[in-house]
Amino acid sequence: MNTTTDTIISRRAAAIKPSSTLAITARVRAMKAEGHDIIGFGAGEPDFTTPDPVCEAAVNAIRAGMTRYVPVPGIPEARAAVAQKLRAENAIDCEPDQIIISNGGKFSLYLAIQAIIDPGDEVIMPTPAWVSYQPMVELAGGNIVEVPTTAESGFLAAPEDFAAAITPRTRAVILNSPSNPCGTMYDPDAIRAICDVLSSHDRITLISDEIYERLVYGGREHLSPASLPSMSGKTITINGLSKAFAATGWRVGYACAPASIVKAMSKLQSQMTSSVASFTLPALVTALESCSEEVDRMRGAFERRAALMEQRVSVWPGVTCPPPMGAFYVFPDVSSAFGRTSAGGRTISDAGSFAESLLEEAGVAVVPGDDFLGCGPNHVRLSFALDEASIEDGCSRTGDWLGRLT
Ligand code: PMP
Ligand code: GLU
Repeated sequence: MNTTTDTIISRRAAAIKPSSTLAITARVRAMKAEGHDIIGFGAGEPDFTTPDPVCEAAVNAIRAGMTRYVPVPGIPEARAAVAQKLRAENAIDCEPDQIIISNGGKFSLYLAIQAIIDPGDEVIMPTPAWVSYQPMVELAGGNIVEVPTTAESGFLAAPEDFAAAITPRTRAVILNSPSNPCGTMYDPDAIRAICDVLSSHDRITLISDEIYERLVYGGREHLSPASLPSMSGKTITINGLSKAFAATGWRVGYACAPASIVKAMSKLQSQMTSSVASFTLPALVTALESCSEEVDRMRGAFERRAALMEQRVSVWPGVTCPPPMGAFYVFPDVSSAFGRTSAGGRTISDAGSFAESLLEEAGVAVVPGDDFLGCGPNHVRLSFALDEASIEDGCSRTGDWLGRLT
């Protein structure tokens, strides 16, 4: 242990874990750069490039001299375009002063949590859940209250599970539908029933992470909780360009919330990042106003991959997995491999050693489920944001590797 580092680094920074999803992504990138033949099911990001009109809008903005500081929550045109998108596509009755644009949905979430959570407050969240919610809540001094779900229920929590988790300290609920890492989603009736429970509690704000909202399959319908009159004044809706517009590197996300919460988030943003990069704002407008066809095309490709993935994973020996409904993830239960030995002589004791051995021996990268909480430690996450030939190759490598476990 390095004593100098121990005394320099704050307890807060020392306590936080790095994002395991980004760590796997970085490891796969490095292994590929060294010439290894890896199929990467790790990265939670589309393999497509950002649609041309979005790129052109940013380039044109730079060339036109849009290179200076912009208003903290975004230029009026961009806030208006987001409000218009949410009104037209999500039936959320909102105005531009209820919109703040930030550095990725991730920073929108961070600001939202900082704006409403005080030390000791409780934040309810169905688990397994995305890796970054817990650290964000803990950085605000809050405590996560898990509502554990099971694969049998499609990882969906029931309204009464939320009701049972609520205490006088509950300040927020985080809902992420479609879900990372589960790949499942709540149908509109389930959302209405959950909101019926939450709407009667004055002090509870719903943080609805809808970053995968456009990526839904099998004709399923996404319902935004903020479109329900009982929830519009107590919901923070999070979304962004990353997933639907294949723009993870742009770092553009947004939140829609009651104006008082947006004001608090803007105040925080003014002291932290000032705003997003100026020239991404016209690009955001172009994306929201004129790239629907490109989004549909990418969604169609993800839907075909979801079907392929479901079919290929279903033949893996000993593995069970709810079919994907949205986002681009499957979250199979691989616990039947625990306690066994791989062909390379490794003992598979948990999701971590499963993922490590699969990567080293078969060249297939997956994310161990531990950091997603709940029943996560029995699962691994596979992202199917890669072409169909690679999905076929990675799935057969994994099936063969599983078949050789003793
Ligand atoms: N929420 C969920 C559930 C995610 O998977 C991601 C992906 N990182 C985000 C929010 C944030 O994405 P971004 O910051 O790229 O907008
Ligand atoms: N959301 C993606 C994932 O879960 C990107 C990485 C991250 O921000 O966690 O893999």
